[in-house]
Amino acid sequence: MTDLTSLTLAEARKGLADKTFTSLELTDAHLSAIEAARVLNAFVMETPDQARAMAREADAKIAKGEVGPLAGIPLGIKDLFATKGVRTTACSKILGNFVPTYESTVTSQLWRDGAVMLGKLNNDEFAMGSANETSCFGPVGNPWRREGSNTTLVPGGSSGGSASAVAALLCMGATATDTGGSIRQPAAFTATVGIKPTYGRCSRWGIVAFASSLDQAGPIARTTRDAAMLLRSMAGHDPKDTTSVDIPVPDYEAAIGKSVKGMKIGIPKEYRLDGMPAEIEKLWSEGAAWLKAAGAELVEVSLPHTKYALPAYYIVAPAEASSNLARYDGVRYGLREQGKNINELYENTRAEGFGAEVRRRVMIGTYVLSAGYYDAYYLRAQKVRTLIKKDFEDCFAKGIDAILTPATPSAAFGIGEKGGADPVEMYLNDIFTVTVNMAGLPGIAVPAGKDAQGLPLGLQLIGRPFDEETLFSLGEVIEQAAGRFTPARWW
Ligand code: GLN
Repeated sequence: MTDLTSLTLAEARKGLADKTFTSLELTDAHLSAIEAARVLNAFVMETPDQARAMAREADAKIAKGEVGPLAGIPLGIKDLFATKGVRTTACSKILGNFVPTYESTVTSQLWRDGAVMLGKLNNDEFAMGSANETSCFGPVGNPWRREGSNTTLVPGGSSGGSASAVAALLCMGATATDTGGSIRQPAAFTATVGIKPTYGRCSRWGIVAFASSLDQAGPIARTTRDAAMLLRSMAGHDPKDTTSVDIPVPDYEAAIGKSVKGMKIGIPKEYRLDGMPAEIEKLWSEGAAWLKAAGAELVEVSLPHTKYALPAYYIVAPAEASSNLARYDGVRYGLREQGKNINELYENTRAEGFGAEVRRRVMIGTYVLSAGYYDAYYLRAQKVRTLIKKDFEDCFAKGIDAILTPATPSAAFGIGEKGGADPVEMYLNDIFTVTVNMAGLPGIAVPAGKDAQGLPLGLQLIGRPFDEETLFSLGEVIEQAAGRFTPARWW
């Protein structure tokens, strides 16, 4: 029998339904793979007992013919999702050993559909970062290396554990979140598929908040079909999140393999950056050629406010973060550092509990929201956000079905290589992804090729609100043309 961990989710679903293997066997294969890959530091908490219990339960249901859409499929969960009875920290020291008494809506829907939890995955502290280097549990290794090199590279962030684990065959899929690119950028760095759905498509209830007007959950998987299967279970209206939207969840998998003939694909000229590596340019034209060959029409479009997106995002996101993170005061949950009075207790706890990047964001956010600066920074950034959204609306109003861009301006880089002296160097990773969050649109990253050093590169497709299906259809065309990419095992 082939190694069970190398199956796609769709293949595993068939194997389980045909009783070729059991969920317990599938789960055990993944638990062994996780144990053998601890050097990657992708999991911050392994839950083997719970995984086996869930797998047995799935097997019993499968035997009775009660097959949920994800029955018996082992998954990894980003540590930003509250999991009942299982430590949830957002990879921050300030949450300490916080064990939620409730389950996030998204994960509860995965368990409702029969999935099995293998454990919790590493991420940047409070999802702030693009390299998974700000986690209190340490950095995550990318299973991909440059050809002929032993340097460990970052898997991207903030969902670095999710992307690394899926690429390294440690789980069949993973949950992730995306505030400015945290699903799509790590997917591009690891040759996995990641989709950030439309804002409001998935419930944010029970997900540790970073920037509430931008945060969305989504899956990372190895194929577009697998991502479609996962999103169907994760999505849906939830009365506990007033920003979740009450419209039916389509069968996303039905969009896989659907013709893209006659679709109009926008190529935004503002995404052609000065000094962009030739390899990224080439990948982008190749992607456009594949879509054209599949019958789509390519149209140059303009998104004139693109250049303001990154600075505006790095005002809006920290502003919301500074407000959301005010709750970590040492009184309610997690870490507590004593002080002579309550103010000192707050100060000591927050100074000790938050890492450097989180402290920087809280300070920037507090500054841009403070009286005297609010109009100049926060209000202005909100106005820019409206203009960015309008750029996309104008584009879609002209009949554009989706927009094709590179997912990232470079391939994965080494741990510690970027952002040490200047945080903006790290923020530049998000140049192609933050616009999508600012506009609330869906975006998918699909593996499309490799650079000269053998590292994966991804393309991004941006869609109309609640039209994830078009992204899955187009993503599948790219996947079929580019093929799939698997890292050589070195761990
Ligand atoms: N890299 C971006 C940031 O640091 C986005 C992170 C995210 O999407 N959670 O803010």
